Amino acid sequence: MNKPKHECGVFAVYGHPNAAILAYYGLFALQHRGQESAGIVTSDGSGKAFQSFKGMGLVGQVFTMKDLEEINGPRAIGHVRYSTTGSSNLKNAQPFLVDTARGQIAIAHNGNLVNAAQLRIELEAEGSIFQTTVDSEIALHLLAKAPDSGNPITSLRRLEGAFSMVIMGENELIGVRDPYGFRPLVLGRVDGAYVLSSETCAFDLIHAEFIREIEPGEVVIIDDDGIRSEWPFRRAKKSFCIFEYVYFARPDSNIDDMNVKEVRVQMGRELARLHPVEADIVVPVPDSGIYAALGFSEELGIPFDLAFVRNHYIGRTFIQPSQLVRDFNVRVKLNLIGEAVRGKRVVVIDDSIVRGTTARSRVVNLREAGAKEVHVRISCPPHKHACYYGIDFPDPEKLLANQMTREEICEYLGADSLGYLEVESMVRATGLPKQNFCMACFDGEYPLPYDEAFDKHVMENRRDRARLLPPPLQPGLFADPKLS
Ligand code: SF4
Repeated sequence: MNKPKHECGVFAVYGHPNAAILAYYGLFALQHRGQESAGIVTSDGSGKAFQSFKGMGLVGQVFTMKDLEEINGPRAIGHVRYSTTGSSNLKNAQPFLVDTARGQIAIAHNGNLVNAAQLRIELEAEGSIFQTTVDSEIALHLLAKAPDSGNPITSLRRLEGAFSMVIMGENELIGVRDPYGFRPLVLGRVDGAYVLSSETCAFDLIHAEFIREIEPGEVVIIDDDGIRSEWPFRRAKKSFCIFEYVYFARPDSNIDDMNVKEVRVQMGRELARLHPVEADIVVPVPDSGIYAALGFSEELGIPFDLAFVRNHYIGRTFIQPSQLVRDFNVRVKLNLIGEAVRGKRVVVIDDSIVRGTTARSRVVNLREAGAKEVHVRISCPPHKHACYYGIDFPDPEKLLANQMTREEICEYLGADSLGYLEVESMVRATGLPKQNFCMACFDGEYPLPYDEAFDKHVMENRRDRARLLPPPLQPGLFADPKLS
């Protein structure tokens, strides 16, 4: 893996005659957030007949129009998945749908729970039987086991970590965003129906009007009486993932009233001010480096050129080449127009360096094509730490910046110079306060602790889980008399 992997995308509709078809298009727009599997669960509105359709692959491969017509109904939730926990197979594809004493419940989750192992042990000790290895299933068990008296939403207080979720019950659609607000979740309307989505770009596709973001810690409940909010979680410091602006989110999405493309252009400008260079041409690594390269080019008045051409038609079936021909892997995804760079001093702009092998190949490509100089500029700070909140980085010892100084990285890449954006300038480019963000993979300051060793141990010793049961949670730990 040479790029951090996107996590997941969620989409939901309440009260539209073509809910499944809207969900399909919504998931299409969110495809960049997960390409392993896609699924939609619909409800016919009576609350009883839930229907589920899931498959491995891209949205366009999983569903046919016939499937969508068969599962159509006025309510739907959908999911595209990249596995950050649990293996990649159909059993782990979402949304999950279960029959409970409360009726049917379906759930789709974007994020990663940091207390999944502990909750799983506790729930299994209480008799819960898990169908998957995915942490998202925990929320279903908590809801299913919530006492009849009281509000089942309060059972979600036990979740810790990153979670933007959509949940469909027999009578309602629920949107949940964790109190740190790690992942985005937005609310919109189309033809009188409510829609929830990971990103606003999905609203554009279905002509939905953006209403607002779901706030960190907010639970919205949509039913035939309208929409209302609850706030069941303890308050936490807002910690939105800044890497959504750098790389994950689509450039045509808006987050916190800031357009992602504009933020990326601004990051490119900041990068140019920090690390100016005399050059003949600015070349982005497409697609996510394009806007930062535009900003860099504008700021320094150096011409911009799309010298790398991306092949957009590589499906899941692409066979990874052998060691002997591994360079094909790089070239099949991105080919260089040699004539564009020959004899020139080139600045190549990318959004991040993870392991560095791809970045190194790009520099080799440019040199082989006859570039006179190659200057590498990266539109975020060096990645040195793991992410526990839903982004799949490799182990820190495989992160290039964790193992080498900048001078060593520059030498390893074979570049004439190397410059990264710094934390302060990255934040400035968003136009938002620094305290809004999680930047743990850059600065190591984790908003929420995670015991990785415990988690790994539990998952590797499934038969002994009961023995690993930690002391019970203190009663009343999250007690909030308003929500009893
Ligand atoms: Fe985002 Fe990095 Fe924080 Fe993970 S650690 S949520 S990738 S900023």
